[in-house]
Amino acid sequence: METLVVDHPLVAHKLTTLRDVRTDSPTFRRLADELVTLLAYEATRDVRVSEVTVETPVSPAHGVRLSKPYPLVVPILRAGLGMLDGMTRLLPTAEVGFLGMIRNESTLQAETYATRLPDDLSGRQCFVVDPMLATGGTLAAAVQFLFDRGAVDVTAICLLAAPEGLAHMDKVFANSGKPIRVVTAALDERLNESGYIVPGLGDAGDRLYGVV
Ligand code: URA
Repeated sequence: METLVVDHPLVAHKLTTLRDVRTDSPTFRRLADELVTLLAYEATRDVRVSEVTVETPVSPAHGVRLSKPYPLVVPILRAGLGMLDGMTRLLPTAEVGFLGMIRNESTLQAETYATRLPDDLSGRQCFVVDPMLATGGTLAAAVQFLFDRGAVDVTAICLLAAPEGLAHMDKVFANSGKPIRVVTAALDERLNESGYIVPGLGDAGDRLYGVV
């Protein structure tokens, strides 16, 4: 598995405000949206393209267009929804599938409660968006779900990652032989005893949408 921590002053600046406990939900949503667009720029570096020729007013010009089948963006409900617009702004032709996963707070295991995805993902490049890579249980289950439906490669875009989560992903997919990338704005110190990332930013879903 490949991990990319995007090292850019604008990313660090926005992430600092996102972490701040005084940042309100509207500002948090806007910053998460802006951050994902910056991360998506790096995360789509290997997106498949086909060569095309267009006519400029002056002459033919060689260029590229995104290849079909178009990439699939998969937000993990509910917090991943806060990253969807930022992704589709950069990839307007992408299709979107939904995976509802929740972490059981006693076992810390991921449980699937909703799926709305194409049955056949053969040949698809998939981009999973989930703000927090904590234990890695949810992301590993989501990535396995996509591979089981035929996805060729999966890139996860997370605002923050914990070392424990990356280690879990490495372990689970060590022998998968499939390309997996994690793109994140920061690699934090550790998880605390409740499974929260330290220093992190708290509960991403609650900060985006309020406590429900
Ligand atoms: N999920 C969150 O929203 N925050 C964490 O710190 C860990 C998991």
